[in-house]
Amino acid sequence: MEAGKRQRQLVWFAAAMTIVACVSLAMPTALDAQAVRRGPTPQFLSASADVVPARWHAQYLAHLPPTISLPADELGTRLVTEYGAMLVARGVVLPPTGMFLSEEAVAEWQKQTLGDGAGLHLQPAAQAALASAREEAARVGLTITARSDDSGPRRYHDTLDLWTSRVEPGLAHWVKSGRLGSAEVNAIRNLTPHAQTRAILQLERAGMFFSKDFSKSILSSVAPPGASQHLSLLAYDVKEHDDPRVRAILARHGWHQTVVGDLPHFTYLGAPAAELKSLGLINVERADRRFWVPRPARHADSDALLSSR
Ligand SMILES: [Zn+2]
Repeated sequence: MEAGKRQRQLVWFAAAMTIVACVSLAMPTALDAQAVRRGPTPQFLSASADVVPARWHAQYLAHLPPTISLPADELGTRLVTEYGAMLVARGVVLPPTGMFLSEEAVAEWQKQTLGDGAGLHLQPAAQAALASAREEAARVGLTITARSDDSGPRRYHDTLDLWTSRVEPGLAHWVKSGRLGSAEVNAIRNLTPHAQTRAILQLERAGMFFSKDFSKSILSSVAPPGASQHLSLLAYDVKEHDDPRVRAILARHGWHQTVVGDLPHFTYLGAPAAELKSLGLINVERADRRFWVPRPARHADSDALLSSR
């Protein structure tokens, strides 16, 4: 356990140093100088250390797995803000990290979690709850179906492909508009996926966004490679998500919306809505939906955290 934790810490350290070096050498004109100076903090933590946890309410921190590994900088804050509700799910196996670093790490964890056998599928509790929700829906003439072929479990490379499908058009857009040069773009392309995630988030802090219309954060619709809830086998994209009756049925069976703005995306939390506040989650209303997110340390922080999206 200790060796594994140390190894993860070293990997985060290497990632932080890589991006500091690349940003300093390759992109000084493109980035907010203040952000570069602050840089990723070369400290690493479990959920009991400071920096990132200081942003969150004690009730939420108390329900995090004590051994989970999260980066101790802005990336860690963003990962918890965007995807952190899942990390307090009940009755399931939680991932060891907020962001897997490789195809191998994901594959090994998924194999450990599911055991050998029926291939890649949702975690058993999530799968059973989804089946129950479908039965309840069928009794009132509704269906709950997959939005696409990759609606449920995913492999690491699926999340990398999705990420790249947003990053590349964004890079092309910001080159065309004169905000990035080709050397900077090449430097970004050559980063490891997790270092590239930090670089893209830094560019977004300087106003260069990577969503489809370049107006908001890339994280509003795509998770960084290795950080998707789909890798934890606890997420499902629902075709009928627009129907409030479908959302209510899913919520009764522990499936909730937790990624603000990702409308088809549901997360298995293993508890009905009435119990989610006791896990340290709060709900925010967007697009007539109720999304459950980690409770910030101070109420005033919630708007600030969410406005960074
Ligand atoms: Zn999804």
